[in-house]
Amino acid sequence: MITGLDCYNKWGDPNTLWDEGKYMVVWNVPEYVWQLIPSIPRRIYCNKEMIVPLEAAFLNIINRGLADELRTWDGCFQVRAIRGYEELVKKLITQGDIEKAMLYMSIHSWGIAIDINAAWNGLGKKPQMSKELVKCFTDVGFEWGGDWRRMDGMHFQLAYLEKTIKDAA
Ligand SMILES: [Zn+2]
Repeated sequence: MITGLDCYNKWGDPNTLWDEGKYMVVWNVPEYVWQLIPSIPRRIYCNKEMIVPLEAAFLNIINRGLADELRTWDGCFQVRAIRGYEELVKKLITQGDIEKAMLYMSIHSWGIAIDINAAWNGLGKKPQMSKELVKCFTDVGFEWGGDWRRMDGMHFQLAYLEKTIKDAA
């Protein structure tokens, strides 16, 4: 599973970064997507690495006749700690232990996670989402928070980061 530390190593600390543009982009969602899935916004501010898998997931949803099941879009980019670790992150940053602090940052901080149907899929609650809808995402490279021990049914995040040139060497 991708951690905030992996994202930090690739893109830096989102708390202090001034050049979000090196990994974030305003994605103009293709017209067919928001016409066929009305809950999807016309523009999504997300990590560049999200565009291909996210469009593939939306296409799965359309092709599999599940557009009605995506009831609300609840966001992508938000710089914050994993819920419940806000104070710990502050403390670690104050102490200068940035790498450890990054482990407790939400992946939303780098724009590689999304939340959907949040009202019915609260953190720590039993997810109310069909296996078929989940599969639209997991088939194309997303990991589902509903599979975690602390269930987060609204949450999907990239399962892998694209290899950097440095990693490949
Ligand atoms: Zn989330």
